[in-house]
Amino acid sequence: MPMFPETWMDELLQKTDLVSLVSEYVPLTQKSGRLWGCCPFHNEKTPSFSVQPEKQMYYCFGCHAGGGPIQFVQEIERLSFVEAVKLLAQRAGLELPNEVNDDALRRERAHKDRLYAACKEAALFYHKQLFSAQGKAAQAYLTNRGVDGKLATRFGLGFALESWDSLTGYLIEKGFKKEELIDAGLAIRGKRRDGCYDAFRGRLIFPIIATNGRVIGFGARTMKKDDQPKYINTGDTPIYNKRNNLYALNMQRGKRPADLVMVEGYMDVISLHAAGINNAVASLGTALTQQQARLIKRYVERVYISYDGDAAGQNATMRGLDILAAEGLDVKVITIPNGMDPDDYVRRKGKDAFLKLKDEATTLNGFKLLHIAAQFDLNTADGREGYAKRACSFVGTLEPVERERYAPVIARNTGLSLSAVQAQCSLAKPVQANNAAKNRNTRNKIRAAKENEPDRIECALLACMQTSRENAAYAVEQMAEAGLSFETKGFAGYADAMLVAYLSKEEPDLARVIAELPAEQAEAAALATAVPIEGETTAMIDGCIRKLRYRRINARLQELADEMNTGSDDRAELQQEYAELMEKLKEFK
Ligand SMILES: [Zn+2]
Repeated sequence: MPMFPETWMDELLQKTDLVSLVSEYVPLTQKSGRLWGCCPFHNEKTPSFSVQPEKQMYYCFGCHAGGGPIQFVQEIERLSFVEAVKLLAQRAGLELPNEVNDDALRRERAHKDRLYAACKEAALFYHKQLFSAQGKAAQAYLTNRGVDGKLATRFGLGFALESWDSLTGYLIEKGFKKEELIDAGLAIRGKRRDGCYDAFRGRLIFPIIATNGRVIGFGARTMKKDDQPKYINTGDTPIYNKRNNLYALNMQRGKRPADLVMVEGYMDVISLHAAGINNAVASLGTALTQQQARLIKRYVERVYISYDGDAAGQNATMRGLDILAAEGLDVKVITIPNGMDPDDYVRRKGKDAFLKLKDEATTLNGFKLLHIAAQFDLNTADGREGYAKRACSFVGTLEPVERERYAPVIARNTGLSLSAVQAQCSLAKPVQANNAAKNRNTRNKIRAAKENEPDRIECALLACMQTSRENAAYAVEQMAEAGLSFETKGFAGYADAMLVAYLSKEEPDLARVIAELPAEQAEAAALATAVPIEGETTAMIDGCIRKLRYRRINARLQELADEMNTGSDDRAELQQEYAELMEKLKEFK
């Protein structure tokens, strides 16, 4: 991939240590020359995920995920190759090649770095204030809501003093410029007060942390009774845009949640976490965006929406559902009784009650139907008729299976006969093809598929090829002579990449070659790297070729036997081939 210059890629890989990179997500322990941990890519309790430090490769014996640092980042952060390289560069403190000579870009980046630094300092400052004497009211508020000090620290909660300049003064003392504080949304430009003043005053502070762990903005709740608005939030800044982020999604980094629970507010998230529901995130404003849906898709395939029970919350749910479904996410709606919000509910009823609601969550279409019902008065004949028309025109657009499921619901709600409802439904426009995205949900299924099991013998051959140019050439010659080829996905591609590398250099840096391979081939490489070479390499190659030939002959014999059994016309010919192969098989004894 010629997108990044070779020398620059070399530097990036040199500065990236796979062990410390992986350790950010998975705890690793040393055992027999490798580091082991529980695989972040499939569910397991005993570690089958291994890292070989000297080779800078990882491989999972359970799901066969494998590769180098770039593939690891691609896989775990759900990024494209270019995005993964950029993230690693940022992590290594390396400027991107196109930035080296671009002054404007450099200045912009330097400015952003200052804003990140300011936000981080501000978060630490607010956090300290929370536990100070002046933070008493905010502490009491949290305690009331079941949030202890530990949880407050986990979320980095803080308190902004009732003051015009305590944060600004502190940060200016630390060397930040007023412009930087204003740009970061921490201060507001004003005519008096030295040109700017604190943006948040007398408020409980919720830092908004990006998935890379950086503080990028803040939410702030007033601690005064009649103060309006109750919540204020950082507006758009060069480092923060609420459309691209989700509150508390950073908590899921390096974890493998089965699903996410999407709520509206900061306190909903924190209360759910306090109750032990650790996969709650908030949408930072009620209107979900496509960017947020895509971000979610990197983590999970299923989302439960649990917005407030009031009309605004329900309308927001409706809009959010379609956006999430359009990205191929499986969406369900948790309905909380009596118009309570998730925060109230989980605090009053506890974790199990909430999980029960989650189990009973409504499907996307079920919820839409409920939403239609809520707009009509079903106690009047007019209301029932209006509802029937609207509900049928919706259900009529669904697939037949779903129609079967929901038509009786409409009949029950309206007192109409099922046949009348079905007839009304059939007047609706035909099925929309909106399931294409859903079918792309194959992330974990692909790995589990049996046909993808890599072949051990082919794998051993790749391992031999990795040892030297001569051995690679020998293996390929022997395979060609025996009419064999790699059958496991990605293996042939990796073998080719290796040969190309050997052509250009006697001893190419294979780790470097692997770093830029497509995922499938990198997995093949990681797999091969995990195979020990036993004895003489050429002898091992010969052994592998023998085994592959033996297996092939056996497979062909089986085929011939099947054909003969079906009563083929060429029986004589088949028998001839069969006899020849049986003769060949004797060589192997
Ligand atoms: Zn695995």
